[in-house]
Amino acid sequence: MKIKRQKKAKRILSFFRTNFGHRPPYRVLLCGTFVAHCIQEKVNIREQLPKYFGADVTVVTTACCLLELEHLAQINPSLRSTCFVLKQFPLHKCGHEKDATRRAGAKCLKSMLGTNNPERFASCQQIVLLLLPQRCQLAYSIV
Ligand SMILES: [Zn+2]
Repeated sequence: MKIKRQKKAKRILSFFRTNFGHRPPYRVLLCGTFVAHCIQEKVNIREQLPKYFGADVTVVTTACCLLELEHLAQINPSLRSTCFVLKQFPLHKCGHEKDATRRAGAKCLKSMLGTNNPERFASCQQIVLLLLPQRCQLAYSIV
């Protein structure tokens, strides 16, 4: 990782640590779009996320993200490798397990963060604009 990018990451993490209580080990939610982009750019998520955060991270995903990606992989077979990688991470219960409340991956992650982000999650996804208007959220792309 470039030094300039590392300094920027440190500054952002320091801001969130000071103002919103984010502390190591950071809990990171993964979305299928982020994993797809990491595969495209040949980024190893397990290696790079701890380097980026400068601390231990716990990487989890949700059943909604996984289900969305499985549906997309049926349409586009090139996403099967993304699906395989995302399945390697533990699932966090998002509360949308019932089929009636199943949501798209980005909306699921947004609902996990809520307005106050009580569980202090960081969210890694390519669709960052969905998350920025809300307070107390740590969302940016490392790629
Ligand atoms: Zn969900």
